[in-house]
Amino acid sequence: MLTRPHQLPEALAGASPKPYWLDQADAPAPMPPLDRTEHAGLAVIGGGFSGLWTALLAKERDPERNVVLVEGRRIAWAGTGRNGGFCSASLTHGLGNGLERFAGEIQTLERLGRENLDQIERAVRRYDISCDFSRSGELAVATEQWQVEDLAAVAEAVIRLGGQADLLDAAAVRQQVNSPTYLGGLWLRDGCALVDPARLAWGLSRACLAAGVRIYEHTPVRAIAERGADLVLTTPRGEVRAKQVALAAGAFAPLLRRLRHFLVPVYDYVLMTRPLTPAQLGSIGWRNRQGVADTGNQFHYYRLTADNRIMWGGYDAVYYYGSQIAAKLDQRPTTFAMLARHFYATFPQLDGLEFTHSWGGVIDTCSRFCAFYGTARSGRVAYVAGYTGLGVGASRFGANVLLDLLSGEQTERTRLRMVRSKPLPFPPEPARAIGIGLTRWSLARADTRAGSRNAWLRALDGIGLGFDT
Ligand SMILES: Cc1cc2nc3c(=O)[nH]c(=O)nc-3n(C[C@H](O)[C@H](O)[C@H](O)COP(=O)(O)OP(=O)(O)OC[C@H]3O[C@@H](n4cnc5c(N)ncnc54)[C@H](O)[C@@H]3O)c2cc1C
Repeated sequence: MLTRPHQLPEALAGASPKPYWLDQADAPAPMPPLDRTEHAGLAVIGGGFSGLWTALLAKERDPERNVVLVEGRRIAWAGTGRNGGFCSASLTHGLGNGLERFAGEIQTLERLGRENLDQIERAVRRYDISCDFSRSGELAVATEQWQVEDLAAVAEAVIRLGGQADLLDAAAVRQQVNSPTYLGGLWLRDGCALVDPARLAWGLSRACLAAGVRIYEHTPVRAIAERGADLVLTTPRGEVRAKQVALAAGAFAPLLRRLRHFLVPVYDYVLMTRPLTPAQLGSIGWRNRQGVADTGNQFHYYRLTADNRIMWGGYDAVYYYGSQIAAKLDQRPTTFAMLARHFYATFPQLDGLEFTHSWGGVIDTCSRFCAFYGTARSGRVAYVAGYTGLGVGASRFGANVLLDLLSGEQTERTRLRMVRSKPLPFPPEPARAIGIGLTRWSLARADTRAGSRNAWLRALDGIGLGFDT
């Protein structure tokens, strides 16, 4: 890759340390915190995509249901307002991971995933949510020869399972998006939409309010206790007494002890450029405006915004010892400098283009890379977590699973092995940090050795912990 160290500080100097999507002039005003006792049939904890979809779908199923949503900070402030906005149909963090773990039900999972994405599109229309939703698909690009071969295998699997996949050679992929680093590509036309994630979340929040959901921001739940027939959620200035609870709290300090072993917070970092001029955009092409991801073990994901900026993120997933989550970790200058270097290497024609925003966010990572579910307190609490960086679309499916579990009914969703099984737990520290560090190092090494996996990665593959992009 090209390096242009002399230009980096200048290109990043003006970058605001805020997530671009949340930094919009018409962001909604805060809603007041809870300061009394609330009564609810269903209390939802968490104002990210998982919680918002759960509250909204609960009202769609039963408009009379008494639903309260409590959010510890602001709606969408966490992963939901910081992500790439790739709204994928995949419920399994990609087809490769799904085939590896749930081969017996992959056809059902793919169908349910496509239906879920269609339903998201319908909801965006129905609730008139302006979030730049577009079904522009995804372009997987190979920048090393071994990745070209992998793409051919993925294309075959996608087509076998009823999806669309166009395999492109170097010339054809560069006609789509013009980078000298591309050696081949796979255009997945129907499995992914792009959205402005904050606007989608704000729109869902408005739809919840219109349906009668009561939302409280700046209301962290400290504990869930049982009192008679009620579950009581304790918050700093009030409490919620609810018949049922949906826990949709992402990577944050789990309110249920059992979840601690299954989740680690991993930071992912992102840059946003200033809007491209027509000449700059013309030098890249990108007329079909697909989301793009390269296909190493450590990979970048990137896309255009409605005003023709390029959002550029990924590659350097970082775990901090002790499963730390802290505001200061949202900024990581060494990662931003590396991301910028990779950006200019991919698009040398954009030499000098500046970045306006740089941010990081926490990913709720579990060892099987797709969400897991369960119930507690005699089935009156249902939880979901572990989307591992692909929850923008799958969180709507997850919300339906939570509501199915709370209803006590067997459905096609609750019968899935993906829903009934759990990921393998992570060990405690220091083994946790050592294991994650060794895995990161091994994946980076595999990328420089034609994808060849070392003994550690092969051992993880053997026990079902392998990560294959
Ligand atoms: C940088 C980055 C890029 C990503 N890119 C993509 C992408 O392109 N496509 C994709 O599909 N996914 C992506 N993801 C992942 C995606 O953002 C998440 O899977 C999704 O937003 C998960 O939503 P959630 O509601 O489950 O969690 P969150 O968005 O984390 O929301 C959980 C909410 O619960 C609240 N909460 C937690 N505990 C409590 C409590 N005790 N009381 C009250 N409230 C509480 C939190 O404050 C938070 O608002 C990315 C993530 C990051 C960080």
